[in-house]
Amino acid sequence: MKVTYSAHVPDVILGDVNVLKDAPMDMIRAGYGDILGKFSCLNDWKLAVVVNDEYFCQEVYDQTYDMLMQTKDLGARLLARDPDAIETLMNALVGVGVAMAYAGNSRPASGSEHHLSHYFEVVGLVRDEPYFLHGIDVAYSAVVTEQLREKLLEKTLSFAENKFDEEAWSKEIRRVYGSAAEGVIALQKKLGWHAEDRVADYKAKWDAICNVLREVPSSKELIAYLASVELPMDRFYAQYSSQKLEDAIHYAMDLMDRYSVLWLYNTLEEKA
Ligand SMILES: [Zn+2]
Repeated sequence: MKVTYSAHVPDVILGDVNVLKDAPMDMIRAGYGDILGKFSCLNDWKLAVVVNDEYFCQEVYDQTYDMLMQTKDLGARLLARDPDAIETLMNALVGVGVAMAYAGNSRPASGSEHHLSHYFEVVGLVRDEPYFLHGIDVAYSAVVTEQLREKLLEKTLSFAENKFDEEAWSKEIRRVYGSAAEGVIALQKKLGWHAEDRVADYKAKWDAICNVLREVPSSKELIAYLASVELPMDRFYAQYSSQKLEDAIHYAMDLMDRYSVLWLYNTLEEKA
């Protein structure tokens, strides 16, 4: 089970561009991919403000978004190991860490795309199945979560009341998480979100929710960013079966006590 521990920030981070530029290319792709994932997590942060009235800091949001803007078009230069591009990427990766320290939580850096990547990592470890370097999983997962936003925006949703079946859910969690399942079940029982009926709230806020969801670049655009560092979607679908992807979409949110588009999607999807 993935457990997050609080720690103090480092005093010093050393990043020698002359060393970093010669890193294995998949590590450079992973660094870029983790930054690209900020499109998704920053949007989840705004969604959590609309839905849950969560703490939000515009300055931290803007700083993180600026770093994303400086990094997103560097794909070709990163592939060429251009030192200035590598430096910008490293500064963004460290800068996002600073943003988390300012915010006091990982909202500026981690949302639904990280929940999916953690799912692939945890389930991969439990079942001894392969998974990508973290940032590569994050980049691919950001495409998946954007596809969910697009589905939510496309559909005319009919809202029904919450019919959460704890027994059926626990059975599914044990199926997908295996030896990590009890930790997941304990976390969600403590949190109690599954039993809550958010539908009336979603209905009341639907326009505001849709306005937030629309802010992310389309999945097509995100796929083009991935292609700029030679991360084709084929590589993702070759590694993860459609069953695994479907399970991730349904059960990755249970790994964390954090609201994201996955909660919105999974509440509405079955009832639409
Ligand atoms: Zn990450």
